[in-house]
Amino acid sequence: MKQKLNNIQIAIDGPAGAGKSTVAKLIAKQLNLFYIDTGAMYRAIAYKVLKNKIPLEDEHSVSQIANTTEVVLEHSEERTVWCDGENVTQAIRSPEISRAVSIVAAYVGVRERLVELQRREAERGGVVMDGRDIGTHVLPEASLKIFLTATLQERANRRWLELVKAGKNVLFEEVAQDMQKRDRQDTEREVSPLEPAQDAVILDTTGLSVEEMVAKIIALT
Ligand code: C5P
Repeated sequence: MKQKLNNIQIAIDGPAGAGKSTVAKLIAKQLNLFYIDTGAMYRAIAYKVLKNKIPLEDEHSVSQIANTTEVVLEHSEERTVWCDGENVTQAIRSPEISRAVSIVAAYVGVRERLVELQRREAERGGVVMDGRDIGTHVLPEASLKIFLTATLQERANRRWLELVKAGKNVLFEEVAQDMQKRDRQDTEREVSPLEPAQDAVILDTTGLSVEEMVAKIIALT
């Protein structure tokens, strides 16, 4: 480990449903670090774009929204997400937002603004940050970079179970298709695509319990 524990930066990237946010939260708690869910920031921008009925393909207006919207991630147990003073914690998890977010996240204007906010958050102390470009772009000097992955079947199943538990009536096939499409968009975009950093540890979480994933990562710190 290169730095003192309270200053460490842990970057966790990977496709949807790989377990990033679940393990990142637990690691942050165990190591007393801030947890920053960068996906929630992109989701908050997508929420505002849909709310204002801005066409998703209007890059200029979408970027303007990103530049004028205040997104705040609360470091409380509830991890409340605020978008211009509105509590959007639940709303940003809807399938509608999940379908829109990768389009919004592909725009350079949106990314520049959010990366700036993410780096500013990381200056506050040791962090665990999860997303798609943390190890490659946001925190290239991170002391530990993890790329979490799992089969599409397993990732879609985890997401489907989460939605069902939350009382949503969704088909597994639909969840799997949406996930596959989002991963393709995130991997194929020009700006900061989803890919492992050269110095990332690749961890396949297929068949692993949350405790096993956390233990494997903690052992690497
Ligand atoms: O992590 P989560 O699945 O909530 O992220 C939602 C979307 O936000 C991703 O599918 C991706 O399009 C975008 N994202 C990104 N870069 C990040 C985090 C999320 O492009 N660092």
